[in-house]
Amino acid sequence: RAKSAGGNRFELADPEADARAITRHGLTTALPAALDRGEFFIEYQPLVHLGDGSVHGAEALVRWLHPQHGVLGPDQFIPLAEHTGLIVPLGRWVLEQSVRQARQWQERRAGAGPLRINVNLSPCQLTHPGLVQDTVDILEREGLDAAALCLEVTESALIGADDDLLKPLRRLAEMGVDIALDDFGTGYSNLANLRRLPVSILKLDRSFTQGMQQFPADPVDLKIVEGIVSLAHSLDLAVTVEGVETGAQAEQLRILGCDTAQGWYYARPGPPERLHELALVDATG
Ligand code: C2E
Ligand code: MG
Ligand code: MG
Ligand code: MG
Repeated sequence: RAKSAGGNRFELADPEADARAITRHGLTTALPAALDRGEFFIEYQPLVHLGDGSVHGAEALVRWLHPQHGVLGPDQFIPLAEHTGLIVPLGRWVLEQSVRQARQWQERRAGAGPLRINVNLSPCQLTHPGLVQDTVDILEREGLDAAALCLEVTESALIGADDDLLKPLRRLAEMGVDIALDDFGTGYSNLANLRRLPVSILKLDRSFTQGMQQFPADPVDLKIVEGIVSLAHSLDLAVTVEGVETGAQAEQLRILGCDTAQGWYYARPGPPERLHELALVDATG
């Protein structure tokens, strides 16, 4: 194949790369209208206490029901939304829907104690000046206690964060919102740095959970997780583990002292109704 005229020639000759490029471009231009048309929806995955498996809350995970491509996962469109700035209105929409949903669960569970709701924040939302006010407004409008909300920020978003970036998170933490450090352990952050961050929860990355697949697990993996958990607890941070797929993983992570867990072993992300049912089983015995 000739790669003569024009630098793009080679790429255009590869039909797969071409399809990928068209899709990426197509998705990017379709994003704003998708928000207006209501093509996004949220699935909720339970967060459970490792001690007894009872549901203590849920993480909101956004999806896009694309009219041609079907359901797209966040990894396929969040980076595009970040690139175009749509992440700010999209993230606000996710927060509003999730807070409203948490409030509805709370009403229907009357007396059984509130379920907590975890919402992911992208780094672009952190630097957006409206974050704190938007969050305050949404909590007030929907009538949810700030203490029922947890905002998840990835470790990599906070590495080397200066005070300007941390200020809105500090404000939110002072209001009673929990801040969780998501995908912890993948970002090579300085552990001593944790003290500086207004976080109250570490979400241990799935890669650590994967190391617990064998029983007994690799002794080095066990030592690493044990060390992280003891450091976290000494700093008054709770530890959540992601990606628990088997009972053996759950058991080893429980023994290591992790507090809460999330993963397919308990439930896949699903519609709000399913979370309500799972949580209700716990509440009624
Ligand atoms: P995350 O916050 O680390 O979310 C956990 C991801 O692990 C989810 O993928 C979830 O479906 C998946 N997962 C849960 N349990 C298991 C398991 O047992 N095994 C395996 N293999 N995977 C499991 P998902 O839904 O594709 O989301 C991917 C990422 O997209 C999230 O990672 C989060 O960073 C981002 N994301 C999702 N929703 C939002 C959102 O509303 N806003 C922003 N900014 N990011 C979002
Ligand atoms: Mg998360
Ligand atoms: Mg995570
Ligand atoms: Mg993750």
